[in-house]
Amino acid sequence: ADRGIQGERGTRTHCPYCSLQCGMTVQKSGRTALEVLPWAEFPVNEGGLCRKGWTAAELRGHRERLTTPMIKDRANGELRAAGWDEALDLVAGKIQDLQASYGADSVAVFGGGGLTNEKAYQLGKFARVALGSSQIDYNGRWCMSSAASAGNQAFGIDRGLPFPLADVEQADVVVLVGSNMAETMPPAARHLDRLRAQGGKLVVIDPRLTATAERADLFLQPVPGTDLALAQGVLHLLDAAGAVDEQYVATRTTGWDEVRRSVASWWPERVERVTGVMTAELRELVDLLANNAKVMILTARGAEQHSQGTATVLGWINVALALGLPGREHAGYGCLTGQGNGQGGREHGQKADQLPGYRMIDDPAAREHVARVWGVAAESLPGKGRSAYELLDSLGQGGGADGPRALLVFGSNIVVSAPRATHITQRLESLDLLVVCDMVMSETAALADVVLPITQWAEESGTMTNLEGRVILREQAAEPPKGVRSDLDVIAGLAERLGSPIPFSTDVEEIFAELGRASAGGKADYSGITYDRIRDEHGVFWPCPAAPDGAEDHPGTPRMFADSFATPDGRARFLVVEHAGPAEEPDAEFPLHLTTGRVLAQYQSGAQTRRVRSLPDAGPFVEVHPMLANRIGAHDGDPVVVRTRRGEMKAPARVVSTIRPDTVFVPFHWVGANRLTNDALDPSSRMPEFKVCAAEVTA
Ligand code: SF4
Repeated sequence: ADRGIQGERGTRTHCPYCSLQCGMTVQKSGRTALEVLPWAEFPVNEGGLCRKGWTAAELRGHRERLTTPMIKDRANGELRAAGWDEALDLVAGKIQDLQASYGADSVAVFGGGGLTNEKAYQLGKFARVALGSSQIDYNGRWCMSSAASAGNQAFGIDRGLPFPLADVEQADVVVLVGSNMAETMPPAARHLDRLRAQGGKLVVIDPRLTATAERADLFLQPVPGTDLALAQGVLHLLDAAGAVDEQYVATRTTGWDEVRRSVASWWPERVERVTGVMTAELRELVDLLANNAKVMILTARGAEQHSQGTATVLGWINVALALGLPGREHAGYGCLTGQGNGQGGREHGQKADQLPGYRMIDDPAAREHVARVWGVAAESLPGKGRSAYELLDSLGQGGGADGPRALLVFGSNIVVSAPRATHITQRLESLDLLVVCDMVMSETAALADVVLPITQWAEESGTMTNLEGRVILREQAAEPPKGVRSDLDVIAGLAERLGSPIPFSTDVEEIFAELGRASAGGKADYSGITYDRIRDEHGVFWPCPAAPDGAEDHPGTPRMFADSFATPDGRARFLVVEHAGPAEEPDAEFPLHLTTGRVLAQYQSGAQTRRVRSLPDAGPFVEVHPMLANRIGAHDGDPVVVRTRRGEMKAPARVVSTIRPDTVFVPFHWVGANRLTNDALDPSSRMPEFKVCAAEVTA
């Protein structure tokens, strides 16, 4: 049977990295090593993996792997090895001292979008019950929170893709806005190739001619930060061409008249002036959209990581609704999530404003339900905390309401990944207590007072929810090295020492069952999903509620919105949005746009992939157009300095004609890129503006 258990064919599990969560088989190689083999039957990747997936097991026995807790001597800044009891006793004692002096909110928790659902759930419960603190958020806030916010506003629910990824192949036209799928999730790009082989058209909108854009039938290269203006122009022309699906708009949506009026002034000439996209190209896109029934519009970080990221996504959702796409077979709007558990990470309570089941923390009924599952009083649960950047920006600023004095970090490398990173690093350094759980000495762990060595993906089990809303199961394939524990052990050990009113389990299947009960009746309902069902069905799509009699026969929900949306009246919302542009525009001192992104061989902050020897690590670079290189007198490979209002970095120039001449690109897997980025926040999602700011480059 094709089950995720250890057998002749190894252990069925999933990649430790991105949101595709490719299926893979892991088996022992020699006495202790693991090797990765294909799992051809898993439908998402059909045995395909990118080079990160193939080499994932290399990190397991890495010489930099941490295998003992460490405590810093503040007098000399040196870390020394310690026992688990000593480390956990010290952390718990300091937490108690700080909370006694400064209140419960003086201790904060920072989670991650790569943590399993079980860890995300336990972490949210730990913060609210064991610490009694409202101060918890996670790095997923910096991933796709703008699309989440837009989806909630427009559809009443936030699921990255409301259809299986394979539907992409069956569309007539796929429009990618700010996604470099071919490099960020290569096995998914085969859907684009099949789409085109069957006569479908691919449109890519990106300031860089990426490996994905090279496959496109139509490539639009707008000025960074102008995707919303482009969407407004598209909608204006669709309306003018009579391409709006009037019946769908009348029966399945509200708000069209206001939106129609709001885009009336987005003439192609204005769009061209703002975005740099030529009118002829805009009209070509509109023709494709107007003359094909099965159109799919997919956004990713390029459109979302902006101070107007939510508005930008809503602008593209308005286009999708006007064409009557959401709910139509092989068509619709979707967001391509980034982190491994980008979807599940935001459903189970590690967000500042949410409880499990995607319930809002200020909703009295939600508090009652979750408190009942947890066995505590609803009144004892704290309220809403600060968003990720605001939380970090408040650290060490006095305690209590002024900002936490202690931070516990799980699954995140803040020093590399936070915007305005030099400032945030100073905030971390000002803390009374920084605790970091990691498997290697990341840049953030190196600052910590206490470092706790934790398990890797193949050394424990747990569920993840991929970009399709498919809940999958990572199965344990090997024992962790001696001295290493799970984040779940850390949470349970601290909760016990802090005198938590409820115990914290470390049994993943037990935690998942509780998570299901906590999510029951919520938007992301997992109550009908079990580990056995996941094994038998190649994952289960939420919502999947249990029947009132407890029966687990709900089929799950691969496709959403066929008949209604998750709003109170069942209709999707057109919402008026206005293009305001980035928080920072180029000027005389900083005349260029800076944008950031990923490269094929690295993942997120690079803490893991930079240590995998078979992955090429050429270090950071600065992509510049030949015209710009000529202006500053730099040749390919020459060191150049990029400056913004927040900092500077030096790296070799990579001279390419695939980028706009007014734009520079820096990958964010190394220290440096985020010293430059802007901390301006989206008013709704609180997403920082990672994707564009004003910069200067000199040789
Ligand atoms: Fe892993 Fe993503 Fe590569 Fe698949 S595409 S192997 S999930 S990093």
